[in-house]
Amino acid sequence: NKQVVLKRYVEGAPKVTDMEMKIGKIELKAPKGSGAFLVKNLYLSCDPYMRGRMRNFHGSYIPPFLPAQPIEGFGVAKVLDSDNPNFKPGDFISGITGWEEYSLIHDTSQLRKIQPDDSIPLSYHVGLLGMPGFTAYVGFYEICSPEKGEHVFVSAASGAVGQLVGQLAKLHGCYVVGSAGSSQKVDLLKNKLGFDEAFNYKEEADLDAALKRYFPQGIDIYFDNVGGDMLDAALLNMRDHGRIAVCGMVSLHSFSDPNGIHNLFCLVPKRIKMQGFLQSDYLHKFPLFLEHVTENYKQGKIVYIEDMNEGLENAPAAFVGLFSGKNIGKQVICVARE
Ligand code: NDP
Repeated sequence: NKQVVLKRYVEGAPKVTDMEMKIGKIELKAPKGSGAFLVKNLYLSCDPYMRGRMRNFHGSYIPPFLPAQPIEGFGVAKVLDSDNPNFKPGDFISGITGWEEYSLIHDTSQLRKIQPDDSIPLSYHVGLLGMPGFTAYVGFYEICSPEKGEHVFVSAASGAVGQLVGQLAKLHGCYVVGSAGSSQKVDLLKNKLGFDEAFNYKEEADLDAALKRYFPQGIDIYFDNVGGDMLDAALLNMRDHGRIAVCGMVSLHSFSDPNGIHNLFCLVPKRIKMQGFLQSDYLHKFPLFLEHVTENYKQGKIVYIEDMNEGLENAPAAFVGLFSGKNIGKQVICVARE
């Protein structure tokens, strides 16, 4: 059983050498009486939050990974053998599994069965129809309180979460601008994902001036995926009664970035609402989300861009690439197709 394990807790930006491949032994059977089931992992998700689990810090909402153990993350897998009456061989599941070829799963609390559908790639269950898509949905509808015609700004806009936020905002009748880190991503935002405008933040010497160019009358909603300097510039450009959904701060994921926020004072005179959120607090909305996004996807009103890397051995590099913007769209690892 090929596995990717965490070698040691990570300091600063994650590196490929913080992880290593190992060959573990696994019985290709679910032990009788265990209530567990054995899966073959097909698609694994690389998500920025996993960086937080690579440090030895217990005060977070989720515990650290265990060194020398397979990394845990969202995946799509097929059940091969089962001692759990609710999961049968041949079933497909989506949820927390391991960065390995086969996993024995005991904890089903974060798992759901998925129905294969020829019109939807299975891998979308870790992207568009999985945790990142759900994050976009709850972040936009629950935190941003959007109104038709409002002006919306999304950072890391071509990523797993951002690309759906922008499309939901367009479907809601908003004006939407995204920022991303390359001209290829900017092109995708404007020509494939339907954003009204997009810009490459790496080419802007002055982020405040860039936002003033795209939002001469100000921003009603900022969906923040990055924190740092972009958040600081957005604060200066918010309209009165604007909302900032603090989804993540990927620019701070090395935990060594000194970027401080200077413009928080804007919250007061502009009566801005700024709220962090965790998608996991809204799981009761998951069925509604699935219905909404699946329907729009099938009608061709939503598209989704994936960055698919083949082979478990390429998972560490793909993961590390998230923090320098190597991924174009949702980063997925294909371990096996079936
Ligand atoms: P993405 O697919 O967007 O990948 C990460 C992207 O972040 C990179 O492609 C890169 O895009 C951008 N990035 C990396 N480093 C920096 C930097 N220093 N400054 C600015 N941008 C940077 O990831 P996701 O869509 O999966 O996640 C987006 C955000 O949402 C993350 O902050 C994540 O932690 C958060 N999140 C929050 C959840 C919640 O419940 N609150 C749940 C899921 C995700 P580019 O080339 O454009 O720079």
